[in-house]
Amino acid sequence: MAPDVVVVGSGPNGLAAAVTAARAGLAVEVHELADDPGGGLRSRALFHPDVRHDICAAVHPMAPVSPFFREFDLAARGVELLAPEISYAHPFPGGRAALAHRDLDETCARLGADGPRWRALMTPLLEHSRGLVDFLLSAQRGLPADPAVLPLLARGVLAHGTPLAARRFAGEEAGALLAGVAAHVVGAMPTPTSAAVALLLGHLAHGAGWPVPRGGSARIAEALVADLVAHGGKVVTGHRVTDLREFRDARAVLLDVGPRGFLALAGPLLPERYRRRLRSYRYGPGAAKVDFLVSGPIPWTDPEVGRAGTVHLGGTLREVFRQETAVAGGRPGTEPFVLVVDPCAADPDRGAGDLRPVWAYAHVPNGDPADPVAPVTARIERHAPGFTDTVVARQGTSAAALERYNPNYVGGDIAAGAMTLRQAVFRPTPRLDPYRTPLAGVYLCSSATPPGPGVHGMCGHLAARSALRREFGLRSAPPLSPGGGHR
Ligand SMILES: Cc1cc2nc3c(=O)[nH]c(=O)nc-3n(C[C@H](O)[C@H](O)[C@H](O)COP(=O)(O)OP(=O)(O)OC[C@H]3O[C@@H](n4cnc5c(N)ncnc54)[C@H](O)[C@@H]3O)c2cc1C
Repeated sequence: MAPDVVVVGSGPNGLAAAVTAARAGLAVEVHELADDPGGGLRSRALFHPDVRHDICAAVHPMAPVSPFFREFDLAARGVELLAPEISYAHPFPGGRAALAHRDLDETCARLGADGPRWRALMTPLLEHSRGLVDFLLSAQRGLPADPAVLPLLARGVLAHGTPLAARRFAGEEAGALLAGVAAHVVGAMPTPTSAAVALLLGHLAHGAGWPVPRGGSARIAEALVADLVAHGGKVVTGHRVTDLREFRDARAVLLDVGPRGFLALAGPLLPERYRRRLRSYRYGPGAAKVDFLVSGPIPWTDPEVGRAGTVHLGGTLREVFRQETAVAGGRPGTEPFVLVVDPCAADPDRGAGDLRPVWAYAHVPNGDPADPVAPVTARIERHAPGFTDTVVARQGTSAAALERYNPNYVGGDIAAGAMTLRQAVFRPTPRLDPYRTPLAGVYLCSSATPPGPGVHGMCGHLAARSALRREFGLRSAPPLSPGGGHR
């Protein structure tokens, strides 16, 4: 018998959509092209059988706070999110480093004259955190429930998403800290979206923190799959879906794919105007990843940096802005912005003996075929002399190769579409219900829909809620917690 709901793709959003539909009592089937589910949530032993590396997402600031995961309750399912005391660090040449402690007081104390400015920026965001998170992780089609959120966002975007950003702080540390967070948007800077991302992720660093799951990101995918299966759902792996008509008997089909993937699956079935809109969707710069197996902690010049889960290597605020804008324009820099994650900083069990994984990626032009191993290693070595000598094994994945690994990352764009202001809100096309498509019963649920990239499950959850309402007449949200009730 045909399932009620088919989901194509098993990333965090595909699985969140599947779980939401299964918890509403529907028969759900997920089809995934890879041999294991998870999309951006896979962890694998790459070099040593006891050392698991996160292949894509490693750090999860949004997992403890997203409305979907709050309700799903990862902790109750045995997924431990371990937040390091220092959420992120930003070293400078010569050994100086700015540190974002979870403790706001400690952070401000190290920022000298900019300490009060950092506190003035973060305090109201922390006070209105629930409202801010719920709005930014929504479809953003209505007003925030907390009336303080829009003025806060407007002020923050004006101050940090315009050329004024370069003048907000007196010293280099605070500006670089915020620019490093804003750079997670992977695009030209400063912009309103880079500022909104900085406000969201920046204040979470002083709240629930920037955690890594004990044992690796795959633990989150495993918990989602376990819940799906426990509620009668099924995951079919090793199946690349090439034509949507394969599922014509299902009442709803949710696609964890981007516009390009949708065109490949259903192009001839779509109205020409909608097809044109999908074709005009823009992709942003790429990520080029390097996985290292190392024989000890990274020898950062400032040892405090080693206590941080995430490290941003990009120089001063102006240097970050310049590099990121150049890369967005297709011009690779000699020194790309690099993110480094040492999961053992929060989860010592990730290693085996002295061996430990190090995860890093550089921002590069979309589709760049260059092997990132040399530039990424050199950038880390500059801030951690002797790092190269600790490297036991390494593997580079260019931006072009990332797309071969997962077709959603077009040209290595891990945000599944440029995060311009227009595309941040109107992903993938301007529609009142961004998940609906012109095809009856067919919905998009990937991070190419609002609220966009990252592991929060909200694109999938909101797309499924839309399908439940329209295709099955189910208006109320299904319970997601392990106990079956609403939290
Ligand atoms: C290197 C890297 C580092 C990242 N780091 C972080 C991080 O630290 N924190 C964070 O929050 N986010 C991070 N991200 C982003 C995060 O992984 C994504 O935003 C998130 O995974 C998007 O989820 P999704 O479900 O929309 O799509 P994906 O996770 O991309 O999943 C889509 C799935 O659909 C499958 N699929 C596609 N087409 C088909 C088809 N035709 N048939 C069958 N299956 C198909 C794919 O194989 C894939 O499994 C990172 C991404 C990358 C690549």
